[in-house]
Amino acid sequence: MNVYDSQRMLDSLSAEGFEQQNEPENADLIILNTCHIREKASEKMYSELGRLRANRRAKVVVAGCVAQAEGREILERAKNVDFVLGPQALHRLPKLLKASPDHNRAIDTDFPVETKFENWPSPVSHKASSFLTIQEGCDKFCSFCVVPYTRGSEYSRPASAVIKEARTLVEGGTKEITLLGQNVNAYNGCSGGLGGLIKALDEIDGLDRIRFTTSHPRDMSDALINAFGEVDSLMPYLHLPVQSGSDRVLERMNRRHDVEHYEKIISKIRVIRPDIAISSDFIVGHPGETEADFIETLNLANRVGFAQAYSFKYSARPGTPATDDQDQVSEQSKTERIARLQVLLGQHQKSFNEKFVGSLSKILLDRTGRLSGQLAGRSPHNQSVHVGVSPKEFFSLLGKIVLVRITKANQNSLTAELVREEEVKPPEVPV
Ligand code: SAH
Ligand code: SF4
Repeated sequence: MNVYDSQRMLDSLSAEGFEQQNEPENADLIILNTCHIREKASEKMYSELGRLRANRRAKVVVAGCVAQAEGREILERAKNVDFVLGPQALHRLPKLLKASPDHNRAIDTDFPVETKFENWPSPVSHKASSFLTIQEGCDKFCSFCVVPYTRGSEYSRPASAVIKEARTLVEGGTKEITLLGQNVNAYNGCSGGLGGLIKALDEIDGLDRIRFTTSHPRDMSDALINAFGEVDSLMPYLHLPVQSGSDRVLERMNRRHDVEHYEKIISKIRVIRPDIAISSDFIVGHPGETEADFIETLNLANRVGFAQAYSFKYSARPGTPATDDQDQVSEQSKTERIARLQVLLGQHQKSFNEKFVGSLSKILLDRTGRLSGQLAGRSPHNQSVHVGVSPKEFFSLLGKIVLVRITKANQNSLTAELVREEEVKPPEVPV
């Protein structure tokens, strides 16, 4: 979501005559768009601000969720910061720069009535794969999470605005759109919810791939599950965070779903799309988590067999309810548990990837690969795939969807070779 917000800030500043610089030393304006989800993310911001002191000329803006949460404290701690701008006030940056040309320090952490989306100019993007925020904020108040406080309450953009933006992206060369939201499947900007929006986007000529993230198990409707069987451009990948495999911990987390509900969703979706890649987020060491609870998380991971997963040590966030709980888990237990979980999740990811060796897949090549002579991109199942291409084809294939045969599987990526359409027998889909 910050990548999307940063891109839109860049678009709005380009309209004011700014140009993007790659090195901070050359810039007149530096924006740090920040994340507050875990403590490490905020610490990174302060160390980056320290490094930026070398450029005395530039105006420095701290934007995003750390700006929202820490406001004035940032101006006190980091004397080189000029402006502090919350995630819902980002569209006001050009105005703020004009109003304070002489380094008058200012803060804007309002939640304005008018949204940034209707104030930003149309996107100026030529990326093969683009993000598009359709929903922001959260009303769920999980015990550990800062999002409802930093991003504000749940808001869905009207479908008409989303479709218009998607068309602009596709006209600019986008082939894949990832719809974004903190609770993207709670989207209610049109009568059919997220499933309805996806069907409307599927009508756009030239939009070959649709994805969405992040979903909450509570908002996973049957209509949305069915869309995986009905809409060809909806890719077979679902990121559905579970956080813990213990009902007792889920209750403490105020997640409003249990393990059984989560596994029911997975079963339903696998009936409709047997090859679907399921991904998840886990938190280990939430206050009150015992070794027995943690074993239940390992058991759930074994039962589901995630294609991909992100796991984090619980990080106490100021102002969230879990921070005040008396039964915090020791750092040592968190470190030890996360290591065990990550080994297991890594094994599952590798065995998911191994099923694809020898099979055909279509890859959207959107970047250069790890080795020279390689391009890289994503498979429909969201795996990172490195494809060898000849120097002659290198630039002409960038941004295209190509047919490949998978030759090798690693834990985090696949290697593949190009296949000419005329060599192809009917595609084999691993299950
Ligand atoms: N809305 C999504 C999650 C958004 S935050 C959902 O409900 O699933 C992204 C991820 O960061 C979360 O899924 C969670 O695993 C992690 N996270 C959030 N707060 C955290 C905290 N205090 N400590 C550790 N991880 C956290
Ligand atoms: Fe945070 Fe997601 Fe819970 Fe909302 S639903 S509070 S964004 S973890």
